[in-house]
Amino acid sequence: MIERTLVLIKPDGVARGLIGECVKRFEQRGLKVVGMKMIRPDAKLVGDHYTDDLEWLTSVGRKTKVSYEKKGMKMDKPDVEIGRYVRKWLMDYLASGPVVALVLEGHHAVEIARKLCGDTEPRVALPGTIRGDLSVESYMIGDEKQRPVKNVVHASGSVKEAESEMKVWFSENELCSYERVDWAAIH
Ligand code: UDP
Ligand code: MG
Repeated sequence: MIERTLVLIKPDGVARGLIGECVKRFEQRGLKVVGMKMIRPDAKLVGDHYTDDLEWLTSVGRKTKVSYEKKGMKMDKPDVEIGRYVRKWLMDYLASGPVVALVLEGHHAVEIARKLCGDTEPRVALPGTIRGDLSVESYMIGDEKQRPVKNVVHASGSVKEAESEMKVWFSENELCSYERVDWAAIH
């Protein structure tokens, strides 16, 4: 099943000189780069990326709540409200420097790109993943510094999320079609 997914190398990844390292990992796993550009995103673009979608706000809010509870801190606010607060942080983080946006195509592209990125929190991300190999950043450090966890990359969480995120960053005519000759040997 061939899919497309959106990956971002976030400002910390670009600033650390990790563009090539990240792209290499996606390419060598067998995903085809069909779109790629560097952008300094403005507030509108990052607002379109981290949408005001209730489901997403609830999920991000819940993650934040759980990580606070693990530290023995209780948050009484509803998940959505916490999610809105985190969204503002995220928008500032993503707009803090240049970002490299990629559209990757391949079999199970959404699932594979997510796996290559690893867990949201680099501290617990498994070795072998981008976040697990290239960072020890944690929710605790993020909270102390009053900012989101810096985790080098973003990858769409589902086929539906990928569809909408690709439209935010790319127009259809910016995507290229070509053969990955190694696919004939892999598949
Ligand atoms: N994030 C955070 N604290 C949290 C949850 C998320 O700092 O408790 C940040 C982190 O940078 C993450 C982004 O918000 O990459 C989006 O969150 P999501 O749950 O979508 O994680 P991802 O899909 O990136 O793994
Ligand atoms: Mg996500």
